[in-house]
Amino acid sequence: MIPSRCKEDLVMFAQMESAGLEDLHFATDPNTGLRAIIAIHSTVRGPAIGGCRLIAYASDADAITDAIRLARGMSYKAALAGLPHGGAKAVIMQPAGDYDRRALMVAFGQFIDKLGGRYITAMDSGTQVQDMDAIATRTHWVSCTSRTGNPSPSTALGVFEGIGSAVRHKLGRHSLCGIRVALQGLGHVGFEVARLLHEAGAQLTVCDLDEQRCARAVQAFGARRVDPGDIYGVEADVFSPCGLGAVLNDDSIPKLRSGIIAGSANNQLAEERHGEMLHQRGILYAPDYLINAGGLVFVALNHARAPAQDISAKVHQIGAELQALFRQADALDTATSLLADQRAETIIAAGVQTAGECRESAANTQ
Ligand code: NAD
Repeated sequence: MIPSRCKEDLVMFAQMESAGLEDLHFATDPNTGLRAIIAIHSTVRGPAIGGCRLIAYASDADAITDAIRLARGMSYKAALAGLPHGGAKAVIMQPAGDYDRRALMVAFGQFIDKLGGRYITAMDSGTQVQDMDAIATRTHWVSCTSRTGNPSPSTALGVFEGIGSAVRHKLGRHSLCGIRVALQGLGHVGFEVARLLHEAGAQLTVCDLDEQRCARAVQAFGARRVDPGDIYGVEADVFSPCGLGAVLNDDSIPKLRSGIIAGSANNQLAEERHGEMLHQRGILYAPDYLINAGGLVFVALNHARAPAQDISAKVHQIGAELQALFRQADALDTATSLLADQRAETIIAAGVQTAGECRESAANTQ
């Protein structure tokens, strides 16, 4: 009989193998309460890059699953964005009770440094610029510090470009004026997406778990507010998920009354088969790791000290990349999510950077 603890371990290895993860690292530090995990999916194309979450997880297993699940998405995102990086994700389990946040981040910086540059961290849910500054006191392998800033506006700009591209493809409209968007989540990215859409003349219906954020959007953008549970059934041209992941599932998909899904949330599909389900229903889905790549582009190119205009140009390119994917998916009559996965896997399997990427990477790191 296998003790239950060993069974958990077996699940962990099975998860790693199924996600194609290279390695998984754990660190604890009793002095600061640090309990952290770094999941490295791939370093084939270069150092693995990806944000660090600080969340109160219900269990160790939940934290491990979150890190593994998100790391693969980061590899796909970096590959499709043509960045000379693999993907990774870090999670810090929020200590119970009072704790010294700066000391926690300094200890996490030491953990990252021990990996010798295999992993570069950045902001994610629950972490902020000040945390990255604390990490930077112990390691060079960190982005989103006070020097480089917050990636959310770049993510939002890429999502805005992606929504424009999807509307052109699906509705043949070249302007967002009058386009109806149902937007879920008004955090760092969602609120900025709402602002850009409002300035472009779109009509917004919004929801958030936080009432104050809804009230701000109603006041600033003339948005209509609905309860979080009602957002899926809103009749709109675009549904834009900018909250948490796994929102496209067996429950929500039948309720949807939008022909386009284009938002910032990571891991929007609860399972891969939900991408096919959207395709069968004739809903155009902008794959999450393609449309929300603006933040990663910002993080990676800032770390490489690329000029601001290069970063901006690459973020603006997201619309054109999506357009090409939509056309190819139509031609093959296949789900956009499947096609994007295949493309990313092909790029990662090829392993090497293209000559152009090598030149760009070398120029940026000098
Ligand atoms: P955030 O924490 O600032 O905001 C998320 C917002 O969504 C919060 O206001 C929260 O209350 C709301 N929310 C959560 N669940 C909800 C629900 N069920 N219904 C309605 N509202 C809900 O996060 P963020 O930085 O804006 O990121 C949003 C999403 O985009 C996340 O999935 C994140 O992983 C992804 N993402 C963010 C970036 C970035 O640059 N910040 C980059 C790529 C992907």
